[in-house]
Amino acid sequence: MKYKICLSPPHMSGREMKYVQDAFGSNWIAPVGPNIDAFEEGLCRYTGSKHALAVSSGTAALHLALLVLGVGKDDIVLCQSLTFVATVNPVMYVGATPVFIDSEPVTWNMCPNALEDAIRHYLSIGRKPKAVIAVHLYGMPAMLDEILYLCRKYEIPLVEDAAEALGSEYRGRKVGTFGDIGVLSFNGNKIITTSGGGAMLSDNAKYIEKARFLATQAREPVAHYEHHEVGYNYRMSNVCAGIGRGQLEVIDERVMQRRANFQVYQTSFSEVRGIEFQEESSYTFSNRWLTALILKYKEERPFHVRNALSEQGIESRPVWKPMHCQKIYETLPRFGGSVSERLFERGLCLPSGSNLDDSELTAIISIIMTPPFIEFL
Ligand SMILES: *Cc1c(COP(=O)(O)O)cnc(C)c1O
Repeated sequence: MKYKICLSPPHMSGREMKYVQDAFGSNWIAPVGPNIDAFEEGLCRYTGSKHALAVSSGTAALHLALLVLGVGKDDIVLCQSLTFVATVNPVMYVGATPVFIDSEPVTWNMCPNALEDAIRHYLSIGRKPKAVIAVHLYGMPAMLDEILYLCRKYEIPLVEDAAEALGSEYRGRKVGTFGDIGVLSFNGNKIITTSGGGAMLSDNAKYIEKARFLATQAREPVAHYEHHEVGYNYRMSNVCAGIGRGQLEVIDERVMQRRANFQVYQTSFSEVRGIEFQEESSYTFSNRWLTALILKYKEERPFHVRNALSEQGIESRPVWKPMHCQKIYETLPRFGGSVSERLFERGLCLPSGSNLDDSELTAIISIIMTPPFIEFL
């Protein structure tokens, strides 16, 4: 079904074509070229990261991050369970074992207590985890102080999956720049897009250099084709990077538009019993990539609301199904309680595009506000 109102459609600024045409004009139709260099520089400038590598997807960036950190066969990687599957699949690509960590109920991200339980458990059996992958779900920064404290205390590298969180901040600094490596996505549904793409951020030049090498078929720096390692074809196209340049120029506007959607939803539902959202604290700033809500009292209701919206041609979606509940991953170890399961059962993501207009928002809200979905205070 083609929706009239999509969950998170692309939103062009009108500045993209100039850079795309530059690529055509100069015949840089390749995974190298001036748009890529400028896009990587732009990402550094915007996020404050010292280095950036533009690649073909967020998933590729996560795969490279694990390779660069030396994660390999039978290593343990502690991953947030409540996320999109792309956070975890790269752990399998390198032959390591994902271990799932439950969420805390405030930001819905990795629970620091469950994380410490997992770390202590694996240390006690002599299998020190090789990396932690925390996610900033729907743009909401995770509890970075606590997570970073544990990663430093136990000397385990942190990968921040900031695929949904470009523009979000923690203590005034952009997320994706706190971990040893940060990962971004520019898939079509993300806050800005290159039609498909991703990036790896790091202050460690060696990590970026190694990832760049692996992403270009691990070609040794000699004239003939010489290879000592298995490489990948993961670089971003110069055409796509042109789209990214045009998008990056309006990122602040896009963040404000998504936050404004959230404000309207939150205000409209303030009289409704049992609706909860991910909460910002005094030192976090979410890009509100998606507005996700919890219908706290009745688990069947998100399904009914979703159907009612769908009948009117409006797309909404359940909150991510936790990885420890997925067929491919359900036999793997996990730590913590069932917060992520409750969020999945009762959660719903509402249309959140930066190009949503007022009449569309009003229509969505009036469907949700129609009994019997909700109870008023
Ligand atoms: C989108 C997304 C990814 C993967 O990014 P792609 O560019 O689609 O490969 C990874 N993690 C999370 C949390 C995402 O939302």
